[in-house]
Amino acid sequence: MGGAIALKQADKNILERRKQIVDDLTDLLPPGTVISDKHELVPFETDGFIAYRQLPLVVTLPRTTEEVSKILKYCARYKLPVVPRGAGTSLSGGAIPQGDAVVVGLSRMNRILDIDFENRAAVVQSGVTNLAISDAVSADGFFYAPDPSSQLACTIGGNIGMNSGGPHCLKYGVTTNNLLGVKMVLFDGTIIELGGKALDSAGYDLLGLVCGSEGQLGIVTEATVRLIAKAEGARPVLFGFETSEGAAACVADIIGAGLIPVAIEFMDKPAIEICEAFAKAGYPLDVEALLIVEVEGSEAEMETMLAAVIEIAKRHGVKTIKESQSPTEAAQIWKGRKSAFGATGRIADYICMDGTVPLSKLTEVLRKTGEIVASYGLRVANVFHAGDGNMHPLILYNINDPQDAAKAEEAGNDILKLCVDAGGCLTGEHGVGIEKRDLMRHQYSEADLNQQMAVRAAFDPDWILNPSKVFPLEGRPQ
Ligand SMILES: Cc1cc2nc3c(=O)[nH]c(=O)nc-3n(C[C@H](O)[C@H](O)[C@H](O)COP(=O)(O)OP(=O)(O)OC[C@H]3O[C@@H](n4cnc5c(N)ncnc54)[C@H](O)[C@@H]3O)c2cc1C
Repeated sequence: MGGAIALKQADKNILERRKQIVDDLTDLLPPGTVISDKHELVPFETDGFIAYRQLPLVVTLPRTTEEVSKILKYCARYKLPVVPRGAGTSLSGGAIPQGDAVVVGLSRMNRILDIDFENRAAVVQSGVTNLAISDAVSADGFFYAPDPSSQLACTIGGNIGMNSGGPHCLKYGVTTNNLLGVKMVLFDGTIIELGGKALDSAGYDLLGLVCGSEGQLGIVTEATVRLIAKAEGARPVLFGFETSEGAAACVADIIGAGLIPVAIEFMDKPAIEICEAFAKAGYPLDVEALLIVEVEGSEAEMETMLAAVIEIAKRHGVKTIKESQSPTEAAQIWKGRKSAFGATGRIADYICMDGTVPLSKLTEVLRKTGEIVASYGLRVANVFHAGDGNMHPLILYNINDPQDAAKAEEAGNDILKLCVDAGGCLTGEHGVGIEKRDLMRHQYSEADLNQQMAVRAAFDPDWILNPSKVFPLEGRPQ
């Protein structure tokens, strides 16, 4: 009886504390900035990694850096967990809130502040979508290079959080190679600026540290990004292969020969069928694997590179070669590839793994991936950035069957361990998030992890920012 009364009192205290936090934030911020209604919180309970769900305590949608600063100052005072959120498309659970978290959503900070062609740079608020940057400069012959398939929705802040990539990052690099500066709010509300329009800055490369830090070192409110001039021409070419091994070996040989096309994307047979059924992209259906190789430059440059690539492909049993004949056909080819995740979602639930391997190990890892997934009685479709060795096995399963879901998770873990054991890495572009935090021990020694956590603690001593992500829960400083 006494226990029950004590529990009730504890529950009451928690409810009162929650109400106090919501009231305080409401008072602190302009009207309409705070969301606390249970139903309105639902869209924020998960992200692209739908395996976990958790309602946040409250969501704030600030419009300015100063408002972000006020929120963080308040949260630091009471040591409240804060989860930064862009569009919530993370595939590793990076934006999933934990219990009683204050979510800081950046979606309203969506203005392009400055386009500066002379310095080939754009300054944007962090809630601007990836594609909006290229759209804003396209008519002037420029683009922003990193192109995640989610680029219509995902924000530049989320891209920085995850150091995101995309099909065209083979030639131009991922987010970290295209980021020049940030304005960022630290855990206690302090506003700092790192980098700028110049190509380098003095002192430690803190910008490099922030890119890929999954919202744990601060909340980015503005980003200065590199703009790149569009090439004279660009042409995706489809190479259909008799075997997946042939296609994978072809990729390693293209890169090994010193050729850097703009993109080399791989699809196995299940992926080809899924994407073709959805996008009618003109993919050949009588092959076991497909490479999309995009070349760019003048007509002569494209012809020269293409000839060298075709020569290599012939050595690996290429069965069909199809060059896109028009901008519409080229767009259709990319539509097929870029809608791969959505198209797969039409036929099954899936988890998308994201590991990177040295190119010399592509063939072996692909084969073993198939064996692992089959050993759990599940199916897999592979569609990935082959030129970067960044693999994305999509493990198909039934989310409503707990046994199936557990098998898919285990198969995924085995595949990521396989990537690490092959000399690769747990993530290529989707980050660690919740999904891979316990696998970090497979990649890093205790000393390695402690050093990373020490860096994190130097920015955020109380572990307020996105605390449940990236590092294994056990063994953290308390
Ligand atoms: C269909 C689909 C296709 C995808 N394709 C790709 C792909 O090709 N390449 C790729 O790399 N990824 C891809 N992704 C994954 C995802 O889109 C990227 O990780 C993207 O960068 C996330 O951006 P977001 O705005 O949705 O960020 P969120 O998911 O909201 O957040 C991602 C992480 O960044 C942190 N964060 C967000 N905003 C800020 C900020 N302003 N300051 C500090 N931290 C912040 C969050 O806390 C979280 O840890 C895909 C996802 C989907 C659903």
